[in-house]
Amino acid sequence: MSEWTGTDLLLFYKALNEAHGSQNWWPSDTPFETIIGTILAQNVSWKGAHDAVRALTKANLMEPAKLYRAGSDIITPLIRSSRYYNQKTQKILLFVNFFLKKYDGSINRMAEMPTGEVRSELLALSGFGPETVDSILLYALEKPVFVVDAYTRRIGARQGWFPETSTYEQMQDFFMRRISPDVYLYNDYHAQIVFLGNHICKKNPVCAICPVKNYPGLHECEYAKMENTRV
Ligand code: SF4
Repeated sequence: MSEWTGTDLLLFYKALNEAHGSQNWWPSDTPFETIIGTILAQNVSWKGAHDAVRALTKANLMEPAKLYRAGSDIITPLIRSSRYYNQKTQKILLFVNFFLKKYDGSINRMAEMPTGEVRSELLALSGFGPETVDSILLYALEKPVFVVDAYTRRIGARQGWFPETSTYEQMQDFFMRRISPDVYLYNDYHAQIVFLGNHICKKNPVCAICPVKNYPGLHECEYAKMENTRV
């Protein structure tokens, strides 16, 4: 198994960015909408989450106080496309209540707080796991926190970065120890991994069209190497 350095990981990113272009995450009008989007995007396709965001926007509810006042009876039917809509309504109301009470509904005030402090506050909200919280920190508050997910796990295990059984923190550490904090890079790196996992490095990977396979100077993908020796 090859030892990956920060330089290797930057080359990996370069290969993906060259092939797929910058992903321009998070596609929303305001940081508050990004936060609501990250909650709605849990365990659902992007389209399902996007339709729910649009429905809330169309109903003129994409503001903390309005959303809180609307309550579950109004929110739930609007976000049906996001699946688990009852749970997600409760999560939205929980977050908005916290956001109004602690930060007076101000993204700037929240973003001014030390990253570790806001992270702990958000993780203390029921139903807010590290992936959702770190997405909020990175994509809404522009804090340099590397987000990892199930695609990162699959691709990382196949590349030989870390075992498939690694914890969220171990996977996150793998990147953050090697790549200096950089909001733009962290943003697009995670987005590129999601694109790769969604379209190419799927459950049954399509290695023949993978931009990181045989990219000059990059370590060979462990999974692809193993498949080649089987042929
Ligand atoms: S070469 Fe194949 S297994 Fe390796 S990252 Fe690309 S698609 Fe996934």
